[in-house]
Amino acid sequence: MDNECVFCKIVDGAIPSYKVYEDDRVLAFLDISPINVGHTLVIPKQHTRFMHQLDEEFFLHAMSVSKKIMLAIEITINPARVGMIIEQFDVAHAHLKITPLNDIADIQTVHAPIPSKEELENTAKLIESAL
Ligand SMILES: [Zn+2]
Repeated sequence: MDNECVFCKIVDGAIPSYKVYEDDRVLAFLDISPINVGHTLVIPKQHTRFMHQLDEEFFLHAMSVSKKIMLAIEITINPARVGMIIEQFDVAHAHLKITPLNDIADIQTVHAPIPSKEELENTAKLIESAL
C-alpha cells in the first residue's frame, strides 16, 4: 500500500467508494467524475503504477473481470457502446476505465496529424522490435 495513493485508500476502505465488484485481487468501483454514468474503474488491490507491470496472469484476470463488467453495463445501462480505456495519466495506481459511450465524441480528442506511410512502417517496426 502507498499511503499517499487515493486508490490504495479506497482499497483499504479509508475512502468510501461505489463498489461494483471485488475479489481477492481486483476492485471495481464507479468513477466519481464519469465520462458517462456507469463509468467504472478496475484496479489491482496491490499498489502498482501501470497496468502493463502486472504479471501476465494478473493482467488477464483484470481483463476478464473487465469483460464481465462491460457486459453488465451493456445490459443495465444500454449505451450505444461500452468502451475500455487504459491511459494511465491521472491517478498513479494502475487502473482501466470501462465507460458507457453514447458517441465517439465522448472520448474523441485532438489527434496527431495523419502520419506518412514511412512513419507508420518505421513505428510498427520499432514497436515490433521490442516484443
Ligand atoms: Zn495505490
